[in-house]
Amino acid sequence: MADYALVVGDAMLRGRPGRYNIGIAGGKVAAIEAGSLRGDTEIDAAGNLVTESFVNAHLHLCKVYTLDRIGDDALAAYTGASMGAAMTAIELAAAVKEQYDEGWIEPNARRAVIEAVRHGVRHMLAFADVDTRAELRGIRPLLKLRDEFRGIIDLQVVAFPQDGLLRDPGAEELVRTAVELGADVVGGIPWIEHSDEDAREHVRRMCALAAEHGRKVAMLVDDAGDPALRTTEMLATEMIRHGLIGRGIANHARAVGTYAEPSVRRLAGLARRARLGFVTDPHTGPVRLPAFAMAELGVPVALGQDDIEDAYYPFGRNNMLEVAFLAVHALEAVSQPAMDRIYDMVTAVAADVLGVHSHRLETGGPADLVVLDGSSVREVLARHNPPRHVVAGGRLVAESATTSTFHLE
Ligand SMILES: [Zn+2]
Repeated sequence: MADYALVVGDAMLRGRPGRYNIGIAGGKVAAIEAGSLRGDTEIDAAGNLVTESFVNAHLHLCKVYTLDRIGDDALAAYTGASMGAAMTAIELAAAVKEQYDEGWIEPNARRAVIEAVRHGVRHMLAFADVDTRAELRGIRPLLKLRDEFRGIIDLQVVAFPQDGLLRDPGAEELVRTAVELGADVVGGIPWIEHSDEDAREHVRRMCALAAEHGRKVAMLVDDAGDPALRTTEMLATEMIRHGLIGRGIANHARAVGTYAEPSVRRLAGLARRARLGFVTDPHTGPVRLPAFAMAELGVPVALGQDDIEDAYYPFGRNNMLEVAFLAVHALEAVSQPAMDRIYDMVTAVAADVLGVHSHRLETGGPADLVVLDGSSVREVLARHNPPRHVVAGGRLVAESATTSTFHLE
């Protein structure tokens, strides 16, 4: 009889020289030792890096693989000219919702969730449009997939009024219904409203709904290249006012990248008070949150995939190593310490932003880990291959290999 249900042997770990064996029992990491361990099942890491699994802190899961339905116009508007036309892009992209049907949304979303499992994603913040065009057709399939995949990948489903609240009468009632159906998080997109007053009202109503139902809030804030946009500040202020401290996530917040430094520092101070976490997606738009500056000011920042082959981004595989690889370039983070910080933004810090505070590879922690293709953070980023082995809840859930055959003579 072995001591452990599963042993991952001959593993390299971050920040620790030597090779280690990881003993897993009862869904937990029970031991990390240099000496050999015996398991009912044994995985040979073969000197590759083993870390906690990945976290995708932001994905529009109901619209994955819809780019071919919608065409390129919205994509061009969203990514062009410092994002001056980001609002127009959202209006163009909304056309896809005329076709919204659970019959194709569910298989598309399922395909993206399976890609996430293959790439070792264990937690995901998944947005579903809930508005007068999508109604509940976007969120129902995601709630179903959440229940089906729980324990392999945990989806936190956000009821997201993509077209605004005051701009889209009827959306608020639909978000309320989605929360009653079991949505985990109340969404919001205040910057898209037509005035600051409406934006503040939007934030207020969604925070009140979250507080009433014991939910978190996750909002798309200031998602354009305009320093006049201040809805991140509104989100932090209303979180404090509604007793939602530590229960909010600011997504995108691109306009912060155009603020003068005193404004960045003031916002960071307020975000610390509200314990507001941030998610940035530097590959999906030309304007971006100053991720390192915010992190240095004590604000947790995660990376998200954001989109997969939709009207806002033409690529994406739920591969957080690929997202991190792109962020290394976009954020000019090619030094080893910078790469390590980026790696934290798709693992432990991203988990903190989603309120999963135990997500660390350590004795007593959850047995959610990946055996990577490469022996260092730099090497796994360079290759951004899917993990060789993915362990979730102490169980092997996916394995991948890449092979090439040469015929050179
Ligand atoms: Zn987004």
